[in-house]
Order: sequence, then C-alpha cells, then structure tokens
Amino acid sequence: MKIDFHRRQFLQQAALTMPALGLIGLDELAAQVAGNPEGGAPFPQDKKLGVALLGLGKYSEEQLAPALEKTQRCRLAGIITGTPEKVGKWKEKYKIPDKNIYNYQNMDSIRDNPDIDIIYVVTPNSLHATYTIRAAKAGKHVICEKPMATNVKDCEAMISACKAAGKMLSIGYRLHFEPHHRTFMEFGKKQMYGPVQKIVAENSQEMEKGVWRLDRERSGGGPLMDLGIYCVQGAVYSAGANPIRVSAKEGPKTDVDKFAEVEQSIDFQLDFPGGAMANCRTAYVGKGNRLRVEGKTGWYELEPAYEYAGIKGKTSQGPMGIENVNQQALQMDDFADCVLNKKPTRVPGEMGLRDVKILMAVYEAARTAKPVDLKL
Ligand code: NAD
Repeated sequence: MKIDFHRRQFLQQAALTMPALGLIGLDELAAQVAGNPEGGAPFPQDKKLGVALLGLGKYSEEQLAPALEKTQRCRLAGIITGTPEKVGKWKEKYKIPDKNIYNYQNMDSIRDNPDIDIIYVVTPNSLHATYTIRAAKAGKHVICEKPMATNVKDCEAMISACKAAGKMLSIGYRLHFEPHHRTFMEFGKKQMYGPVQKIVAENSQEMEKGVWRLDRERSGGGPLMDLGIYCVQGAVYSAGANPIRVSAKEGPKTDVDKFAEVEQSIDFQLDFPGGAMANCRTAYVGKGNRLRVEGKTGWYELEPAYEYAGIKGKTSQGPMGIENVNQQALQMDDFADCVLNKKPTRVPGEMGLRDVKILMAVYEAARTAKPVDLKL
C-alpha cells in the first residue's frame, strides 16, 4: 500500500512517541495499518474465487458489485434473488451466465456449481441466519452482513452450521480493512496515547418511512442494530478490550408513527476493564458520524468516521493524513485470501456474535433502566 507524505509524517510522529512507551515503530505500524492483500504480484485470473451476492438491494448494487470489479482474489460470479425483474439488469451489466443465477427456492442446488465459492448474504437482518445456514449447507463459504443476526441464538446457529459444513464465516465489517480504523485498533491495542480514558462514538442519520429497517420483525431493532453497531465496534477496538458493563437510555419519539416498532434514538455507555468508558449515541434523526478517543497523553478522532469514503482523522499531534481505500474490495479480497490460504478471518462469526450480545444488552439496559453486566 502506498503511504502518502502526510500519512508518513503522521506515522513518523506516532512512531516517535512510541519507543518511549515501549510500543512499535514506523515500519511495523505502517505494515500493520497496510495489512491487506493489495499490491504484490498479479493474482492469476483463473484462481479468483467466485462470489454470489444474495439479496440485490442498495448495498449489493451500489457498493459490493462495483467493489467486486476492483478485487484481485475474487469476482462476482453469481446472484441469488427473490425478484426476477432484477435479473436482466445484473446479468447484462456483470455478464453473469444463466447457470449462476438462483432464486430463494432453487438456491440449495448451488452446491453443484463449482463457479461459486462464497455466498455473500445481504438481506434484511432477520434473514441473515436462514440464508447463512442454507449457504453453508450448500457447501459454500459465507460472508454475512452486519448485524450478524437479530438475536444471539441465531448467531450461534450460524456459527455451528458453518463449522459443521467445514466452511468459513465472516461478517461484513468493512472498517476492519480501512486504514484509519486499523490505526485506531493498533492504538487501542498498544494504548498509544496512554491508557484510554474516554471514547465518544456517534452514528446517526435520517431514515425514510416505510422501509424494513423500521419493521422490528425484519430489522431486529432501530438505529442501534443498523448504525449503533459501528459505535460498539469502534468503542471496542479503541478500548482494546471487551466491555464489562452497559447502561442505556432510549430517546423520546418525536414521530410515533414512523418509530412505532423501533427506537428513534438511543444513548448508551460501555464500561471497560481499567475504567475506560465509551459514550455512544445512535439515532434515525439528525446526523452524527464520529469516533473520538481520549487517552492520558493525547486524543485522536475520526469525523466522518464510518462512511465508505472521505474518512478524516486527526490526533492531538495533528492531521492523520491517511488515504481512503475501497473498503469492500479489501474486505472481500481478505476473505478470499483467508479461504485460499486457510487463514482465520479477522472478522469472524464469533465477533458478530459478541456484538449482537452487546446490542441485546444495550436494549435490556434501556428497557430495565439498570446497568447490565457483560461476560464476553
Ligand atoms: P435494501 O433494502 O436496499 O436491500 C435488501 C435486499 O433484500 C433487497 O434486494 C430485497 O429485495 C431483499 N429481500 C429479501 N427478502 C426480503 C424481505 N423479506 N423484505 C425485504 N427485503 C428482502 O437493504 P440494504 O441497505 O442493501 O441492506 C441489506 C443488508 O446489508 C442489511 O443487513 C444491512 O445492515 C447491510 N448493510 C451493510 C452496510 C455496510 O456498510 N456493511 C451498508 C448497508 C447495508
């Protein structure tokens, strides 16, 4: 990965502070930040793994399919859809042969199709479990979108099904392949600005009426399931530890019709071992997109923090100057690399399960108005 001038300068600054703290140096940090399969010798075209996208909504159409044109170790080989009208457009645009096009009735026969190695589940949240389990039973590796499922039991069943089938399972946590966030993970692990004391995370955006995200049956909950999960993730990797306690308070509903089934907003606090605390907020009204970490000797923050592009970072030492990347392409290439080389993924089903446990604890804390202890 290319390191631009500002980024190198930032990494240099970071490295300068690190030896005193007994931490890593510039090259090691750069290597860890860049830890993805970009670059190197060209990957042979015929060895690329075939990905079938299951659920051809906005995220598949606008992010994943275009990203699959940029991947080096995998390619868009098939589609699985319940909407026959979508087939023509996808078939033509991505040159998908008829034999690689499935619907939800015949998808189990994908087992006999050697063109497909990985099924990427991109449906409403409550369907993730059903399709992940069917994909694994059909002998395919699985990437499943976040949140992994709408309850803990489903997450466990998904992990078991993939294990039983001898197939790998990863969650679509794209930010684990994004260099600003990878830097935050590294800072969290090494407590680079002294012990982390406070984290502030917000992810809020307006939600239109009439969508499955407002329907509890299909979403499992409101902004917490959809957007707040990024705050949970950011807080956990910034703290470098799992939370031990959660408290939460649901916000008032200004539109009771729209938010009849799910929360409009929720504020929650995660407590970490050693005393670090994360104050998080997520809402389907207003706008907020931020991750800030305060350590004993300095601070660092991202704003916007969770977007597909345009993430900007600064620290108490100055701008981070890190370039943006195609997150989804790196995420899918990394999974293909893990499958090809039998390496564990850094975003496994177990991480998805952990996060769903945290999300459920946030809801419980809000419902009971009492802190909930976590044993993760
Ligand atoms: P969307 O509404 O645009 O698409 C959902 C797709 O699922 C549609 O093609 C729809 O036809 C299909 N579907 C199948 N069964 C359905 C049912 N019973 N009800 C409604 N739709 C059904 O949603 P999206 O934004 O593409 O989100 C899909 C998944 O991807 C969600 O789990 C979401 O959390 C996740 N997502 C992740 C990211 C990310 O950055 N990682 C971004 C957006 C969405």
